Amino acid sequence: MDIDERLYTIRQISALIPTVRISIADDTATVATLLFDSRKLSDTVHGLFFALEGRRDGHVYISDAYAQGVRNFVVAESKVDVSAFPDANFLVVQDTLEALQTLAARHRDRFMHPVIGITGSNGKTVVKEWLVQLLSPEYHIARSPKSYNSQIGVALSLWQLDGTSDLAIIEAGISRPNEMGALQRMIRPDIAVLTNIGSAHDEGFSSIDEKITEKLKLFEGAKIAVFPPVHLRGIPMPTAKQQLTWGVDEGKLRVTAHQLLDGNRCRIHARYQNEELTVIIPFTDAAARENAVCCWAVMLAMGYEQKVISERMVLLQPVEMRLEMKKGINQCTVIDDSYSNDLSSLAIALDFLQQQQQHTKLTLVLSDIPSATFYEDNIYEKVSTLLKNSGISRLITIGPTLLKHASKFAFLTHEAFLDTQSFLSEFPSLTFQDEAILLKGARKYAFERISRLLTAKSHDTVLEINLNAVEHNLNQYKSLLSPSVKLMVMVKAFSYGSGSFEVANLLQFNKVDYLAVAYVDEGVELRKAGIQLPIMVMSPRPTSFDALLAHRLEPEIYSFAILTDFVGVLIERGLSDYPIHLKLDTGMHRLGFSIQDIDLLINYLKDTSAVKVQSIFSHLAAAGTPVHDSFTETQLASFGEFAERLSTTLGYPVIRHIANTAGIQRWPQAHLDMVRLGIGLYGIGNEGGQMLFLQPASSLKTTVIQTRKVAAGESVGYGRRGLLSRDSVIATVSIGYADGYDRRFGNGVGQMTIGNATVRTVGDICMDMTMLDVSGLDVKEGDEVTVFGNVEKLAKTIGTIPYELLTGISQRVKRVYYYG
Ligand SMILES: *Cc1c(COP(=O)(O)O)cnc(C)c1O
Repeated sequence: MDIDERLYTIRQISALIPTVRISIADDTATVATLLFDSRKLSDTVHGLFFALEGRRDGHVYISDAYAQGVRNFVVAESKVDVSAFPDANFLVVQDTLEALQTLAARHRDRFMHPVIGITGSNGKTVVKEWLVQLLSPEYHIARSPKSYNSQIGVALSLWQLDGTSDLAIIEAGISRPNEMGALQRMIRPDIAVLTNIGSAHDEGFSSIDEKITEKLKLFEGAKIAVFPPVHLRGIPMPTAKQQLTWGVDEGKLRVTAHQLLDGNRCRIHARYQNEELTVIIPFTDAAARENAVCCWAVMLAMGYEQKVISERMVLLQPVEMRLEMKKGINQCTVIDDSYSNDLSSLAIALDFLQQQQQHTKLTLVLSDIPSATFYEDNIYEKVSTLLKNSGISRLITIGPTLLKHASKFAFLTHEAFLDTQSFLSEFPSLTFQDEAILLKGARKYAFERISRLLTAKSHDTVLEINLNAVEHNLNQYKSLLSPSVKLMVMVKAFSYGSGSFEVANLLQFNKVDYLAVAYVDEGVELRKAGIQLPIMVMSPRPTSFDALLAHRLEPEIYSFAILTDFVGVLIERGLSDYPIHLKLDTGMHRLGFSIQDIDLLINYLKDTSAVKVQSIFSHLAAAGTPVHDSFTETQLASFGEFAERLSTTLGYPVIRHIANTAGIQRWPQAHLDMVRLGIGLYGIGNEGGQMLFLQPASSLKTTVIQTRKVAAGESVGYGRRGLLSRDSVIATVSIGYADGYDRRFGNGVGQMTIGNATVRTVGDICMDMTMLDVSGLDVKEGDEVTVFGNVEKLAKTIGTIPYELLTGISQRVKRVYYYG
């Protein structure tokens, strides 16, 4: 396979996939890039858009993609009127996902080198990345970017195979029955690897055995099978020419013992072919040991000598795959993605960069991309093409090869440095101001040094927000809604403490219908940051009507006083049909018009054209509390009646909504025209009703700033409340009640985790610090401490609710966003 084989003509593509009909307007079209999301289009000229029918039907986005320049489409039969796009090519198929997968499979067929396929419940990505570290001295390896292991992700991973690599490592992940068959037909691994199988059965499987059987389908046809038999529970493995089993006290590579060498390393002993073997790895935890043994088995199966294996294992590096977004110096945002540097991960990171809208200026700091010299020219040609489509205006390169190829980047401001050190020495003379800076460097260029210079110094306590988890939770709730139900997301109180802009940006990207904030100021901030979605303001004040109108914010109107004030302002300005949202009180007794007000309200609204009722809504007081279900039913009934009367007299359609997070989950009949999702977005509030799989989205972390030994009988902290009954080791961490760590967590009520250990507070919580009892643990200054991962449990220990804990985290705590 040579380098450019990813360029297919449209005719070649139509011959490779099973089409029902084709409609070719331009025979000369060539395809290099596969597209399926109209929000993330790159290389549109050579793009082939697959209209996939997932949660959203991709056919709806064809005109969107067409408007952005895409001219090649794969669509399902009778879904599109192709005559509406006369100069575009259409391949009509039975099933668009199957067509994508077939194309990927045919492309993979042309790759003549070994392919390693990895599956398992945990550790796939780590094993993949470690194998890359371990095998790269001999091979140029193509691998799934990040954890692209789904039905679509695997197809895209295979599509990037080309002549620059001579080994491919592909992850395969499944969550439902019958998925592995499709993945196996695409990947056709020569070496199939199973990492492990978790004890729980996933969403879609009826039993663990069913899940194991499904995962094992990856092994069909593989020449070499590497797996831990203990996880198979006796289910037979498809036969492979060579099997390398591994496990503790069983298998061909039989682990007999492990021994901690110091705080950070451990030695693993095993027997293999009647020999005693050992490796040392720079990790100690059980998951790392298991992943390392799995890699060890793969290397033995590939014929590596033990000497080479142990030399390399000791150098294994942690897999840092998160793409971190941090606040930078001089109003910059730094996106740190320097765990790897290859073309496909560069494309993903550029894509992410473009989605950020805080800054108009986009900067890329890029290191040389490791590759064989032979392909250099070609690789940098491709980087150049990627950058042309990316909106990047400033490029800083580090490394001799990029320096040599500088002429390829003449179209942008390019500053080239020979190595990281020379960049660091020049740093004081460079300016970075109000730009989004993407750091993309291969490991050996140590970009963490650059990252440190570019990120603002701050307080050591951070709230980490996993935007993938937020997106996942959003989709979990969406899955409960029928397609016609709109979704409003509550981003009040700084998005429940998680940071308004970043969360709102993600929601905008995911095309939710509405956002809601508490105050006009919050809405103004979102507008200034580029959020275009309609925004409802729940507590508008007459003093803020100017700002509200200037930023196209839509007020919640809950009383005649506010209604007449607002209408007055609109008439003064000569405005009409301004969207408002009417709040009705059906039992919460907080804000809203009462049932008795309805006739008056109807008459008033009939007489004015200043406002247009966009929606009418109410709020459930106890949607998540089963003992009050009959009360909730009364609220629903009274809202229904209210809404009915209002909408018939208004004579135009209005959106009706009443369900919050708990209402979405427990009251399908309350979904009406729209729902209002709040705390569920952060993975909290699984209230029963429909089963959901939520992921906690935020964790609060701090750092140990000092440790000391304190003798029994001494006390710790103010008022001497932390009296010690034994000799103890006390660690002081930099979080206190001014950060939002409640004083009620003092004196042993609060727990934090350091490594795998749970520790308790000692004495009163101070304003900026808290003391922990870490006796018997190996805790040092600088160690990371998790204050919470699970807020629900924590909230209970001090008799409050997760809402209060989340929104109480002070603004001085830095928010760090990542895609985990
Ligand atoms: C905050 C709020 C919600 C969301 O509530 P959750 O319990 O967080 O889902 C919905 N509607 C109104 C009016 C709210 O104030």
